[in-house]
Amino acid sequence: MPDLYATTVRRGSSGGPQAELGGSSALYNRKPCTRLLAFPQSIAAPRAWRAPSRLADEVDSRMTLKAAIKTLIYRSGLLPAWHRWRARSTLTVAIFHRVLPRGGPRWEQAEPAYTISERVFVECLEFFRRYYTVVSLDDVLAARQGLRPLPPRALLITFDDGWLDNLEVALPSLQRAGLPAVVFAATEPLADPAPSWWQDTLVRCLWQKRASHEELWRLATGTNRSPEAAPPNDLHRLLMRFAALDPETRRELLAGFTRGDDESQRVMLAPSQLTELTAAGVAIGCHGATHLPLPLLADQAADLKQSRHALAGWLPAGHTGLNSVAFPHGRYDGATLTAARNCGFALMFTIDPCVNDSPAGRPASDVLGRIGITESGITGPDGRLQPGKLAMRLFVRPIERLDESSGGTRTVS
Ligand SMILES: [Zn+2]
Repeated sequence: MPDLYATTVRRGSSGGPQAELGGSSALYNRKPCTRLLAFPQSIAAPRAWRAPSRLADEVDSRMTLKAAIKTLIYRSGLLPAWHRWRARSTLTVAIFHRVLPRGGPRWEQAEPAYTISERVFVECLEFFRRYYTVVSLDDVLAARQGLRPLPPRALLITFDDGWLDNLEVALPSLQRAGLPAVVFAATEPLADPAPSWWQDTLVRCLWQKRASHEELWRLATGTNRSPEAAPPNDLHRLLMRFAALDPETRRELLAGFTRGDDESQRVMLAPSQLTELTAAGVAIGCHGATHLPLPLLADQAADLKQSRHALAGWLPAGHTGLNSVAFPHGRYDGATLTAARNCGFALMFTIDPCVNDSPAGRPASDVLGRIGITESGITGPDGRLQPGKLAMRLFVRPIERLDESSGGTRTVS
């Protein structure tokens, strides 16, 4: 499930936003990471208005230039060499959502910003194996507890929400590569027998431009007046409004925008399928019960406890993934951290786009940053992975120690 609907991403665009996932945290509750190795703005920013066709040509040529520079830096060997030195005591956490074969109804209905093709996913795994040591969630928990250190350049592969394609498409690729991963599953969508997930349907209405935020807001609130309290593009408040509706009303409202869509195929995992993942080396962690932004809830702890209780009933006894949580939509504040710690979570995963400081192989904080992997940000016009783009996305992030009490950040490197 998307963590933020802030930018429309065109399917197949090679020049999509570089930080859809990571950028969202900066918009909401955290200071942005500003130490990225960025190209000069003068390269990317249009200087003056131009005729649309010329502007498009210019933007295309600039994107090509940026891609060429990234490839050059990567192929020179300097960037990988710098990464091997710089990341020797770090934990990188990558976020995926959906993994699907390209083409077909499922692919067409999946939000591009949060869906990666099976082939590119496999290429990402090859990249991870080349430049990192991929570790399991158990490895990270043990390291945090001081039981055994992480290896140099550790990387954890994570998936958010609990999509069925994680089992059907991503797992076989992980198994062929011999790599562990963790799925952070939101429990209400999994427990719902309906094939579709209303939050997925709502977001599809938006990214396919079938309805505007304001239109949906009016539907959910039953008012014809533009609501002052609902600024445009505030997906999270829109979700809260729809969550307050009874399920049948919500379904009927959204059905008006999804005629012609194939909503007969289940998109989320069923609870009984979680053990297929755990048996194959994929841990299951918590991602909230309602998948609503925790700071917007009246009782954050109740949602966390409910999700953990549900997962505990579905998973083998003592599954250690229950000690970890990824905050839905990446939203959290100091109260969220307190609630999560009081619930017993030993690791809390954000979408703060940083690499985690891990001196002597022990993560320095129980609050960890993660970096989103988006297809548009790492592929070329041929739809294949451009390793230079992925290297730039991962290697140059700031190394940080997220504050353990207030949600503040300390940049280490
Ligand atoms: Zn999510």
